[in-house]
Amino acid sequence: MAHLWIHDDSGWNASRLISPLFDLGSLRALTETNAAIDDYQPACATSAGFARLVQVDAAGVGTWALVASPSFPVRLNGRMPAAGLRVLADRDEIRVGGSARYFFSTETLAAVEPFPGAERAVFCGRCRQQIGTGAPAVRCPGCGVWYDESQETPCWSYSPNCAFCETRTALDSGFKWTPEE
Ligand SMILES: [Zn+2]
Ligand SMILES: [Zn+2]
Repeated sequence: MAHLWIHDDSGWNASRLISPLFDLGSLRALTETNAAIDDYQPACATSAGFARLVQVDAAGVGTWALVASPSFPVRLNGRMPAAGLRVLADRDEIRVGGSARYFFSTETLAAVEPFPGAERAVFCGRCRQQIGTGAPAVRCPGCGVWYDESQETPCWSYSPNCAFCETRTALDSGFKWTPEE
């Protein structure tokens, strides 16, 4: 899942982009209250214009675009977004006004979540048993393979690395990339 690095008094903090629409014009207020982006309610465009991050892929693969009105003081990697719309790439820098800085990132952290189920049976990448809908599981952020991950069947964390790619399985390993101070 894509996330946005937001710079505030404590440095850089990553927030997951869950809502399919995110209004940069309200980001400053958001970071001051330390609210989660999950809770964010998009504000209406103001006369000063707007800048928004919009998820353009309904499948939720993490394709996002920056959409801005011509009058809004937003810069993507130092430039105004051409024609008011740019598809975002990993590590794109976004500036709003004179000081607010953000980085878009497509990096995803491994996390235990209830297995959402699938049309076909899905088998654990380690033990090869079928994973039941709702069972605690981890989807490898590197290759997308699902693993069991519970006290009884810690298949994801069993080995230091994913069985199919180099992704480390420590659940607290943090982001590989963070913006420089
Ligand atoms: Zn397993
Ligand atoms: Zn993997």
